[in-house]
Amino acid sequence: WTHAPPTLRDLFLRGRSHGARTFLVYRDERASFEGFARAAITLAHHLIALGVRKGDRVAIAMRNLPEWPVCTYGALLAGAVATPLNAWWTGPELAYALAHSGARVLIADGERLARLTPHLSDCPALEAVIATRQEGTEAPPLPALIGATGDWDALPDRPLPDIALDPEDDATLFYTSGTTGRPKGVVGTHRAAATTVMAYPYSAARTALRKGETPRAPDPAAPQRASLLVIPLFHVTACHASLGSALYGGHRLVMMHRWDPAAALDLIDAEGCTGAGGVPTIAWQLAEAARAAGRALPTLDSVTYGGAPAAADLVRTLGDAFPNVVPATGWGMTETSATFTHHQGEDYIAHPDSCGPPLPVCEARIRDPQGRDLPPGAVGEFCVRGPNVVRGYWNDPEATAETFREGWLHTGDVARMDADGFVTIVDRIKDMLIRGGENIHCIEVENVLFAHPDVIDAVVLPIPHPTLGEEPGAVVTLAAGSTATPEAIRAFAAGHLAAFKVPVRVRIWDGMLPRNAAGKILRQSLRQAFEDAAAPPPS
Ligand code: ATP
Ligand code: MG
Repeated sequence: WTHAPPTLRDLFLRGRSHGARTFLVYRDERASFEGFARAAITLAHHLIALGVRKGDRVAIAMRNLPEWPVCTYGALLAGAVATPLNAWWTGPELAYALAHSGARVLIADGERLARLTPHLSDCPALEAVIATRQEGTEAPPLPALIGATGDWDALPDRPLPDIALDPEDDATLFYTSGTTGRPKGVVGTHRAAATTVMAYPYSAARTALRKGETPRAPDPAAPQRASLLVIPLFHVTACHASLGSALYGGHRLVMMHRWDPAAALDLIDAEGCTGAGGVPTIAWQLAEAARAAGRALPTLDSVTYGGAPAAADLVRTLGDAFPNVVPATGWGMTETSATFTHHQGEDYIAHPDSCGPPLPVCEARIRDPQGRDLPPGAVGEFCVRGPNVVRGYWNDPEATAETFREGWLHTGDVARMDADGFVTIVDRIKDMLIRGGENIHCIEVENVLFAHPDVIDAVVLPIPHPTLGEEPGAVVTLAAGSTATPEAIRAFAAGHLAAFKVPVRVRIWDGMLPRNAAGKILRQSLRQAFEDAAAPPPS
């Protein structure tokens, strides 16, 4: 594919060339690149035999298991649109997306299948269900088809299904996190996904060029890299940036059963992980756990996170915990096939509140509500374009036309960009608060709260006000043993913010704030913390 953009099948074949090296690690299960490839090809033939044709949706509903990548790439090799469903969803939520996608085949683990079974009659397009392993049992994955993980190398070496695939064909249908409303079905092409998979080497090259160094080609003799995967594969970042780039680059993907910072430290040491990360909360908890346990994690050289606002002091917390780690962050949406801006190392340390510049093959603009470009430093809507931007929303021409206008994706995020292209996200349009006509950006206020030495989690929310419209309120989590009072937190904020931005009320929350699977705070449910001023503080 020297002269045309690759498809995910091209990247799959490149991954297969890593052969007998270990690819997937889950507890004591191991799969090689070749074993994974054989399992995916076997499944692709099975899907075709079930009647799956090019462009059909194949839904995948399971938590992170070694068969997740097999199902996704199996569907892609059959020419289908891989449609991952959020494993955190309830039965009706799963059924909504399954019906919305019009999937012909569903592949689900035991728990998802149990949740979905009462609702399957709401999904008339569904023709076949393939069950994978049952939680808590030793039953092998997709038993009748591909056997257990350890057996995949022994599967017959079958040819790839003979299906014409074009970079502009649909490859994936991912659902958004549903942070601001009902999850939207985002349909992306092979070209968009492949751009993300291949973006990281470009980013590293740009960092080298900024420092005046010559970018280095990867050293084939270097030890195999290994990434700890803790974020769910049904989000686009895990699928393309974590799984896709591990497949393409020949890295080991170490899957965690359940997120647990102390267990993560052990797994990183046991597997010699070189990279870890996910969402900002995970990076922070990893650093805190390592500091508390006095663990240096000598193999770890990069920690990468994004997808939700990261406190500006996170990069310093990481530097203190892991002196040899290159911290990296980024901004992206399901609609940009994951990473769109990327920020790492010295650049990140120098601009800790930024999420970096757009990837080298991407462009960004900051626009006012009339659609006019704003100068460097001005705050407006973040508008983006590039080969990783998806083609639109599934079966929703209205939402597609509203968001994808004149060649630009209107992200709904509010940001500023400096003259060097460094982007700083200041809010979402939908989260922005307006107090008596003055805009208040939640992230700015949250960052001030995070700067208080005792605050370990914070969110700013609107409190309805009869004449001002809205006022800012805050919910914060304090470090264990802290005796800080709501008044003390307000006084601290007042020392760093214009008076109209200071939260009028502060609630102390017990434990980390509730988040969805993408690491985003469940703002709607927290708003109730302010509904009734007389209610006792939540605990
Ligand atoms: P929905 O569109 O259903 O409301 P969602 O927008 O949360 O859900 P995703 O596509 O998973 O679904 O998330 C994209 C959003 O995540 C971005 O629009 C942005 O608001 C937020 N985001 C991603 N990365 C960052 C970051 N580095 N800093 C701040 N916000 C971020
Ligand atoms: Mg969104």
